[in-house]
Amino acid sequence: MIRYLLTLAAVAILSTVLTACDRSEPVGAAGESAVTTDPGAVAPEPLEPPPAAQPSVSPAAASVDARRLQQADKEPGNWMSHGRTYSEQRFSPLAQINDGNVASLGLAWSYDLETQRGIEATSIVVDGVMYTTSSWSIVHALDARTGEHLWTFDPEVAQEKLKHTCCGPVNRGVAVWKGQVFVGALDGRLFALDAASGKVNWQVATFDPALPYTITGAPRVVKGKVLIGNGGAEFGVRGYLSAYNVKDGGLAWRFYTVPGDPALGFENDAMKMAAATWNGEWWKLGGGGGTVWDSMAYDPKLDLLYFGVGNGTPWNQEIRSPGGGDNLFLSSIVAVRPDTGEYVWHYQTTPGESWDYTATQSIILADLKLAGTTRKVLMQAPKNGFFYVLDRQTGELISADNYINITWATHVDMATGRPVEVSGARYQDTPFTIFPSYLGGHNWHPMSFSPDTGLVYIPVLDIPAVYGQPETFRYNPGVANTGTDGISGGLPDDQAERDAIGALVKGRLLAWNPVAQKEAWRVEYRGPWNGGTLATAGNLVLQGTADGKFVAYRADSGEALWNFTTQTGVVAPPVTYEIDGEQYISVNVGWGGAFALVFGEYVQAESLPNVSRVLTFKLGGKAGLPPVEWQPAVVFNPPELKASPETIKQGLTTYQDVCMGCHGLNAVSGLIVPDLRGSAYLWDEKGWEDVVRGGLLKERGMASFADNISAVEAQAIRSYVIQQAWRGKALREQAGAGKDVPAG
Ligand code: CA
Repeated sequence: MIRYLLTLAAVAILSTVLTACDRSEPVGAAGESAVTTDPGAVAPEPLEPPPAAQPSVSPAAASVDARRLQQADKEPGNWMSHGRTYSEQRFSPLAQINDGNVASLGLAWSYDLETQRGIEATSIVVDGVMYTTSSWSIVHALDARTGEHLWTFDPEVAQEKLKHTCCGPVNRGVAVWKGQVFVGALDGRLFALDAASGKVNWQVATFDPALPYTITGAPRVVKGKVLIGNGGAEFGVRGYLSAYNVKDGGLAWRFYTVPGDPALGFENDAMKMAAATWNGEWWKLGGGGGTVWDSMAYDPKLDLLYFGVGNGTPWNQEIRSPGGGDNLFLSSIVAVRPDTGEYVWHYQTTPGESWDYTATQSIILADLKLAGTTRKVLMQAPKNGFFYVLDRQTGELISADNYINITWATHVDMATGRPVEVSGARYQDTPFTIFPSYLGGHNWHPMSFSPDTGLVYIPVLDIPAVYGQPETFRYNPGVANTGTDGISGGLPDDQAERDAIGALVKGRLLAWNPVAQKEAWRVEYRGPWNGGTLATAGNLVLQGTADGKFVAYRADSGEALWNFTTQTGVVAPPVTYEIDGEQYISVNVGWGGAFALVFGEYVQAESLPNVSRVLTFKLGGKAGLPPVEWQPAVVFNPPELKASPETIKQGLTTYQDVCMGCHGLNAVSGLIVPDLRGSAYLWDEKGWEDVVRGGLLKERGMASFADNISAVEAQAIRSYVIQQAWRGKALREQAGAGKDVPAG
């Protein structure tokens, strides 16, 4: 009877967590569109409603065109594209708010985004209207002066699509062009919305939603084409970038980043060239990876479009391409012609990548004075820890140096342009402790560049990871296929050892001199996963932090000048704009993303909630925020542990492979997704099966894993989680009965 009551109590708690976890309204199926399973064969024809030959768009709203975008510096009051200009420097010439008066910056208005997952969007602001996104690819149009709501567009992505996300249903924003707003939905639909009303002008499936592709990145528009890539390289996909005509959504071109099965022929010469750098049968292991999930930039004078390419599927190159090879165009920066998608040049940051070292991080174009000559450069600080300066006309490597301490390579050989790897870094014989981790020295959080200071402001991650060879590898369609040892990816049982690892998990704001390739200044934070940065002509750098602050620094020295308590972790980058002579600075707040999901132990110790909002500031702003109620502690109520050590070990391995990405390392959740150690289903063998393999909670985002794990494996996971719940309970009691301490 007591057990029954406890179970009921736990069910109630679980329901609360689940409801609080996300939009409680189940949404309709998104997979209605009939597309083939080969993404290359997806028909370019837009889906319902059929395309209007002349979309009914308001010429007044979002009337951005090539001329305005190319002359964006002439109207600094607007923020018309993702990185403000095509060069994506995220530098604003506005200086009304500056290092002399930023102390009087205050909240002008806030807008609740009404989702509870990570908020990563860069807002677009055009002629007084802000277009931004929350999680689940929901678009909001707001009056940029007051925060007044104008319209909302919800693509109603089916929540079970979460199964295919590495990092939650996040979205990094929209693009605008000639009266239309473009958003890529998590399930692959690209929408063109009427900027005045939010109504759909056209939509097109950029991939089959049944495949483990996702869209989280912001589209860009160049020469009347909407450019959009996708994510999913952890799971097993073949990456590509697509260009659609803005008028009707017709597919203009598609550039694959990795070759397909050579027996089927190659799409172009670039794919033929790439195939010569691969071994084995990568196309049978999910497709090679190489997704274009975030960064792009454009140089109108050179007429070159640049984009960053992600990691391989699986991560482990020895499995993906036995015997090696560079595996083009993984972890590369690629330059193509925007009219046709024709390949022009590439630079590969991590040949034969084997660590999830994507080159999808911010791409910034600038003109730098190097050795007395002004060079047109492209800059990137990709995951692998090196800061690259390339000649953006040719792709020639100008310089590279590590911007954090790294253990996998000693330096980049300037003669070959290749990193010089450390022996053992490929973890073929023994596990290897590597800096940076799979999250990179820098992830998606945009960096910025100030032409005034000549510095690049990088949100740096400084985290180790251990990689090892798996005992066996089986390609498991639809779930993560990293090809690395799941156990070595987990944390030790001993808490003192865990705490020692936790102490290595760091983050900082780094001001980097790209000419000298050296640090100018740094600000150490309490931890990693802080927000993207904005630099302004007011000698300011602005950044939100994981521990809930929005901070202004002097751009030349790093001196902290002002901060605001955001009540939640901040990962999105700020933007700035001006209306009727008054400058505003705006940032979207709301904790989430990969680190927040995976590093639960660390996150629970910090325990900040997700509160998803747009916060907009101006000098003398007097608005405030309502108080937040937050109950971070997991309630432990595990049943007796009966399973054998072998079963529990099996459960750990499967958990780390399949469940960890959302529910957290070693079953400690980041509390954005339910912590399974507090789940009532630990008591209920059949209920657990119904959820894990039966899809009972699919409308709340927990899809069925029947295709991926057996019933025996599912119960082994349950046993492992029960063990971890007892561990958490014991630690809690050790720390002091009745005291509200962080779980874990
Ligand atoms: Ca990845």
